[in-house]
Amino acid sequence: MDQIIRHIKDGQHLLIASHAEPDGDAVGSLVALGLALGKFGKKTTLYNSSPIPAVYRFLSGVERVVRHIKKANTYDIAIMLDCGDLVRIGEAASTINKIPVIINIDHHISNTGFGHIQLIDTTACATAEIVYRLIKALEIPFDKDIATSLYTGILTDTGSFRFSNTNQAAFAISKEMTEVGVDAHSVAQRVFGTYSLGRIKLLNMALNSIEISDNGKLSIMTITRSMLNATGTSPEDLDGMINYARRIEDVKVAALIHEIKNGAGKFSNMNRYHVSLRSDSSVDVAAVASKFGGGGHRSAAGFQIESTLVALKTKIIELAENL
Ligand code: 5GP
Ligand code: MN
Repeated sequence: MDQIIRHIKDGQHLLIASHAEPDGDAVGSLVALGLALGKFGKKTTLYNSSPIPAVYRFLSGVERVVRHIKKANTYDIAIMLDCGDLVRIGEAASTINKIPVIINIDHHISNTGFGHIQLIDTTACATAEIVYRLIKALEIPFDKDIATSLYTGILTDTGSFRFSNTNQAAFAISKEMTEVGVDAHSVAQRVFGTYSLGRIKLLNMALNSIEISDNGKLSIMTITRSMLNATGTSPEDLDGMINYARRIEDVKVAALIHEIKNGAGKFSNMNRYHVSLRSDSSVDVAAVASKFGGGGHRSAAGFQIESTLVALKTKIIELAENL
C-alpha cells in the first residue's frame, strides 16, 4: 500500500483499468478510484475494453470510461483492478504491458501476480473493498458519487450480501457509504430492479436449457448466440442467470455455458465458449477452472474453451462423478 501511494503521488498520468465484460465490482472500483484520484489532483484515464452494462450506467463517472487507450508512453502508471490475469483486460493488454509501473489490485485467488506491485487480498469481499482502503490511506474524502460506486461493487460482488465472500468489511464499508449519501434502495432498483423484456425472454430460454447430472449434484445451463439474437439481448444480460442453476436443491456445482463465437469452415462445429462455474463452496471451482486455463474464486470461477457443445457438456458432466 505504501509503495502504491508513493507511485500515485509521483505519477503524472495514471491509467486505471478493469477486466473486460465488467461486472459491478469492475465498474464500481474503476469509477470510484478514477473519481477519487481526480479529487486528489491527478490526471487519469479510465479504461475498459467492453461497453459498460446498461445497469451500471447510472454511476457518475462512467461517462469517463474509454474503450481505447493511447500509446504506452502516454502513461507512467497503470492500475489494474479486479483483474486476475493481464489478458483479461482485453485489447489493450499488450500496450499496458509496456507502461513503466503496473499496479495489480485484486481479490481473486487465481491472480497470476502480474505487474510490478501487487495488492491482492483474497479475503476482501470485492476489489471495491481494497479500493476503499486505498482511498482512505490517501486521505481522500468520500463523496456520494465515490461512495455509490464502491457500494455498487460490494453489493453486486457479494450477491447482495449473500455469497460466501460477504465479510464484516462489506457491512462496515456499506454503512459508512450510506452515511456519505448512498441511497441503497435507489442502487438496488437500478442494478436489480428493472429488466428489459428481452432479458426476461432470455431467462425463460436459459431456464429451459437446464440439465442435471445423473447424481443430481451438477447442473448445466446453456445460452447460445441464437438465443441472444432471438431475444435482442447481449452478454451483459446473462449476469446472474447462473444463480438459478446453482439454487437447485442438492446441486453442488452449476455451470453456465455461453457460446461466444461460431466456428468457421471445416471447424464449423467447433465454437468458442465461456463457461461460468459456481459452487455451494464445498467445491473449489477456481481449481476446476484453472485446469481449463481459467480461474476465479473458490465458489465462482470461469474459463474459455474451443470445443463442440456435445464434447464440452460431456467434460462438464464428468466433473459430477467426483462430487
Ligand atoms: P463469471 O462466471 O461471472 O464470468 O466469473 C466468475 C469469476 O471467475 C470471476 O471472479 C471472474 O474473474 C473469474 N473468471 C471468469 N472467467 C474467467 C476466465 O476465463 N479466466 C480467469 N482467469 N478467470 C475467470
Ligand atoms: Mn470482483
